[in-house]
Amino acid sequence: MSEPDSSQAGVEPGPSEAWHAITAEGARARLRAPEPLTAQEACIRLEHSGANQLPEGRTSGAMARLGRQLRNFLIYVLMAAAVITGALGHWVDAGVILAVVVVQTLVGFIQEGRAEQALSAIRHMLAPRARIVRADGQHQVDARELVPGDTVLLEAGDRVPADIRLEKTNNLKVDEAILTGESEAVDKSPGPVEEDSVLGDQSSMAFSGTMVATGTATGVVVRTGSHTEIGRISGLLADTTTLQTPLLVQMDRFARILSLIVIATGVVIFFGGLAFSGLEFRALFMAVVGLTVAAIPEGLPAILTITLAIGVRQMARRKAVVRRMPVIETLGAVSVICSDKTGTLTRNEMMVTAVMAGSERYEVTGEGYQPDGRVCQQGHPVVGEGALIELARAAVLCNDASVGSGEGAPVIHGDPMEAALKVFAGKVSFDVVSGLSAWPRLDEIPFDTNLRFMATLHHDHHGHEVVYLKGAPERVLDMCTRELSSDGVPTPLQRGRWEKTVSDMASEGLRVLALARRTGVGGPRELVVETLEGGLELLGVVGLLDPPRQEAIEAIAECHGAGIRVKMITGDHALTAGAIARKLGLRNTDRVLTGKELDALSEDQLRALAGEVDVFARTSPEHKLRLVKALQALHGVVAMTGDGVNDAPALKRADVGIAMGVKGSEAARQASSVVLLDDNFASIAAAVREGRTVYANLRKGIAFMLPINGGESVSLITALLLGLTLPISALQILWVNMVSSVVLAMTLAFEPPEPGVMCQPPRPKDEPLLQGFVIWRVVFVSLLFLAGIFAAWFWVMAGHQDPVLASTLAVNTLVAMEMFYLFAVRYLDSTSITLRGVLGTPVVLIAVAVVVGVQLLFTYLPWFQRTFSTAGLSLEQLAFPVMAGGFVLVVLEVETAIRKWVRAARG
Ligand code: ADP
Ligand code: MG
Repeated sequence: MSEPDSSQAGVEPGPSEAWHAITAEGARARLRAPEPLTAQEACIRLEHSGANQLPEGRTSGAMARLGRQLRNFLIYVLMAAAVITGALGHWVDAGVILAVVVVQTLVGFIQEGRAEQALSAIRHMLAPRARIVRADGQHQVDARELVPGDTVLLEAGDRVPADIRLEKTNNLKVDEAILTGESEAVDKSPGPVEEDSVLGDQSSMAFSGTMVATGTATGVVVRTGSHTEIGRISGLLADTTTLQTPLLVQMDRFARILSLIVIATGVVIFFGGLAFSGLEFRALFMAVVGLTVAAIPEGLPAILTITLAIGVRQMARRKAVVRRMPVIETLGAVSVICSDKTGTLTRNEMMVTAVMAGSERYEVTGEGYQPDGRVCQQGHPVVGEGALIELARAAVLCNDASVGSGEGAPVIHGDPMEAALKVFAGKVSFDVVSGLSAWPRLDEIPFDTNLRFMATLHHDHHGHEVVYLKGAPERVLDMCTRELSSDGVPTPLQRGRWEKTVSDMASEGLRVLALARRTGVGGPRELVVETLEGGLELLGVVGLLDPPRQEAIEAIAECHGAGIRVKMITGDHALTAGAIARKLGLRNTDRVLTGKELDALSEDQLRALAGEVDVFARTSPEHKLRLVKALQALHGVVAMTGDGVNDAPALKRADVGIAMGVKGSEAARQASSVVLLDDNFASIAAAVREGRTVYANLRKGIAFMLPINGGESVSLITALLLGLTLPISALQILWVNMVSSVVLAMTLAFEPPEPGVMCQPPRPKDEPLLQGFVIWRVVFVSLLFLAGIFAAWFWVMAGHQDPVLASTLAVNTLVAMEMFYLFAVRYLDSTSITLRGVLGTPVVLIAVAVVVGVQLLFTYLPWFQRTFSTAGLSLEQLAFPVMAGGFVLVVLEVETAIRKWVRAARG
């Protein structure tokens, strides 16, 4: 660490700095950051303080990865075999076995490295962000760029990005369980505390890694990276992501049990053979080694891991980032998707199109967030006055968004709805927007989904105070007793008329918002929810257009085709929700269930309705949890989206919790298993499609690899039992398993989705992979392979009585059958002999070409002939493997057709 340089802007606070005990101004003075930093200053400081991140765990170092490859059962068997064959003086055999050990280790090493790369790429996509204020305004930055002296904004759901001295808090409660183990959120406020306070009592600080439970705050960064409290405790980034899913665990266990059985069988055969057969020690020993290698599907876990890694990468490309690996399997089984409306199903590019102020209704023209456009009545532009002007003022003051002029299109910061209100106010009157500074904000009640409104308190130069409030109309109407007439005179509230206006606008699919105010002099300088109830003046309502996303409409249709029910859950008005749902093409749009109705239902009643109703309106996050539970009780596999802190329980409970990457809070992200980078519903459908594909490819990998092991080991056992010469030697089996099969199987990880993936109903969640069909296929194909191997062997032996030639043909026949089988396995549920099937994918064709090439070397190159005891085949003999392969393909095609026919006949 370099010396703190006082001439530099960077400040290196020593660990003894008690930031909590000094005032916030004191902290700023010490950090030499009285004002928000400029970008340039921040850059200089960043160089000095280093990136605000903890060092990553080094568990995945190259040596550790290498070590993991060597801790493998097959490797032990092979090394023992190499030692024993070496001791017997068979140097060639020992050398080949050792070479296989090296190759196997290297392949595993490289594959695991690629899988890790896929994971770390994803980690970086999910890098935490922070909202900060710099000299040129508010920004959203990568949290790694924070420096001491930066001004940070916090709100509910945020993960605190660094150690922060709080300057201004509003109801702030922080969950510090990660640091203190205390699960209850603690109150925070800016006042200094005793110097010797323990961490849990330092209420003037917010610590890196803790989560904001409620409220908002601003503060100044005092420590970053490994200087933070969390950095001092752990020193490392917690990283628990591994490429592990239930299926892989299951396969691992299967492989291990199988290995034990194989070894035990090998030992029995060895000693039984020594005692009862005439075979000599070396022949028996090599036979048992061959059997072990043949029967243990050691290549399989690597293939499955790679398949998974490729699936993860593919999903990330489609903007769905997987946070918990097991969800990849679950995604393919999803039967219900519950989605937020605003921003996920709709574009979240809002525009005010209708206004009611006083007794007058207006239309608003214009395009998106463009400033051009007018407020009109029957097509004629009007000049804003009275209630309309006051409405516009409320719209800009009770607002946290900003609209800047970007190149081409305006850029907005903050809530799109609020940005639309700013644009609208500009269309009413330029003066309202430019005169903002005359009304500084004293206090606020931030928007909250449970409250459904937001309020701000302002005062002008003459000491007049006014509260502006905006929110869901029924909520705001409840608080109003009067309304402002078109010419600006307060009159009694005509509630019925407003309710009609609201339902008219909502039925058109507009998002409706009411705005109100309360004026007075010398009132309280603090806003409290309770004191706002009653006594407000309604200024009017606005209707905002938020068109559905075109791609969401298509994705919903795709989901319906795939047997997946799509449900919309929104905080919006029931009529708005219903109208949008119809535009989106949801199934059941006649019945809209509101949060209030939901509250009145018992769990049983909800269960009865949850399956049928597709639109849920005016809901709070708590309703999501009840809904997930009800749908799961109906045996649904539920995907649920969410963005706020309060959505976390539902996201955790859902089978697939999906957080919004753009507008979602860190709390929602941490509770979820998938994060959408673009908040778009279409990405969910794409993820489901990928999930189904990955699952199918895992299944194909297993269905491809196991029969090879099966065919080989059954052939050896048959030969041993019948006292025949082994049709394929141990070294040849090593060759097939470590070279040809691995190259062919690898292609399955890259298989694109089958054409019909999204035309089938979701797979039952608990369906075990090694069930009926896969087991049948493994057994059936094993027997086909067995038949091919022996047919080749006997055919050559009958004509030439040459075991070397016979086993060469047997090996080539086995590999050829594998090759053809690869084409069959690519389409497990549909016909493989199609133009698309035969042409394959580039990956498949390359693999086939490679395998043909190495088999020719294996057969004809003298060095290979000496090493593996092979001999050159005649052209006529070469035709045999091709025919055997074609036979396998045709037989399996017939089998698929019969299965299809049986399935059709049954159902
Ligand atoms: P959605 O499911 O559409 O995202 P929200 O829970 O965000 O619904 O909002 C619910 C309702 O709360 C909206 O229909 C609107 O009436 C009101 N509302 C939303 N955002 C704000 C805000 N920033 N200020 C005031 N009211 C808001
Ligand atoms: Mg919202």
